[in-house]
Amino acid sequence: MAENKDYYEVMGVPKNATEAEIKKAYRELAKKYHPDLHPGDKKAEAKFKEINEAYEVLSDKNKRARYDQFGQAGVDPNFGGGAGGGSPFTGNINIDDIFNSVFSGFDGFSGFGGFGGSRRANSNVPRRGSDSESTVNISFEEAAKGCVKTVTYDQVESCPECHGTGAKNGATRTCPQCGGRGQVRISQRTPFGVIQTTRTCDRCGGTGRIIDEPCAACGGTGRIRKRKTIEINIPAGIDNEQVLNVSGKGNAGANGGPNGDLHVSVNVRPHPIFERRGYDVWCEMPITFPQAALGADVVVPTIDGRVSYTVHAGTQPGDVFKLRGKGIPKLGSRARGDQYVRMMVEVPKNLTQKQKGILQEFENVAEDRNYQKRRSFFDKIKNMFGD
Ligand SMILES: [Zn+2]
Ligand SMILES: [Zn+2]
Repeated sequence: MAENKDYYEVMGVPKNATEAEIKKAYRELAKKYHPDLHPGDKKAEAKFKEINEAYEVLSDKNKRARYDQFGQAGVDPNFGGGAGGGSPFTGNINIDDIFNSVFSGFDGFSGFGGFGGSRRANSNVPRRGSDSESTVNISFEEAAKGCVKTVTYDQVESCPECHGTGAKNGATRTCPQCGGRGQVRISQRTPFGVIQTTRTCDRCGGTGRIIDEPCAACGGTGRIRKRKTIEINIPAGIDNEQVLNVSGKGNAGANGGPNGDLHVSVNVRPHPIFERRGYDVWCEMPITFPQAALGADVVVPTIDGRVSYTVHAGTQPGDVFKLRGKGIPKLGSRARGDQYVRMMVEVPKNLTQKQKGILQEFENVAEDRNYQKRRSFFDKIKNMFGD
């Protein structure tokens, strides 16, 4: 004789629980013990069945009343050994149906979508294709100004020979096992009644179609990999290692689902003169010692071409000047960064006798006041050691 189950205990609710309380308890328990969340866990599966069994009774006013009066014998035809003996109860439990009736129309039950979807996993639903990856190499100037580039990549597409069916000449037939539905119902006898569950058809893998002769072009997969070449617009201001997304140019979707996207990683080659920092451009500019000392008009390279600039007299090594608006265009904007130029004062080497003479003469006539840093340096030495 089967053990008399306390359905209230199973549901964790008091004997006088309202319909709403029972429903709420079921939702929480079903979420906790659903087999999709515990694949292969027999205990969770048994618990889940028990919860459904309890809910089937407690959620039905008549069954609940009979259960309250007679215990399990009031609702289970097999209870107590009598096969179908006298009980008016004839229900088959379809877990899916209970499940759907409880969860349908319940907004804000967002934590559930994850396995709700996989539970009804169906090979026939449209699925978006995966994304393809590619890279493109461009110069510093191309990144700064924008350009059009040719990109080559591998794209999985629907096989044109079999129109994506995977069958020779596209010839498929309806699966005899599931009748084309892709799913089969499995009935399981339990002490309580017949429990039906839905499973993906193993004959057709859930597609509902049978392929007798696979397509030779794609080996029966319905998909082929092709080398693709497209032109893409690279916007001005793009930086190294940024990724461009080309919508819909990725791998083919399944069952009429949309293509994935193409991701293009941008490699910007370093420039011999310019260095990018954010949207600003930096460069170093060599000037001669007389140019730094006397001031001079010099020619400065920019990404727009050459500009002239007046170096003021007394420019020191490492001094930086700014060319406003000569930097990189900001992506999606008309604004631009600035260019910074660092002065590198060259000390002359390999002088001729004449140059040496002139410089020596310069040194002889120069007074210490012309060398402010030097003078203060020697003042400090004087303070340290005395004269
Ligand atoms: Zn089938
Ligand atoms: Zn094919």
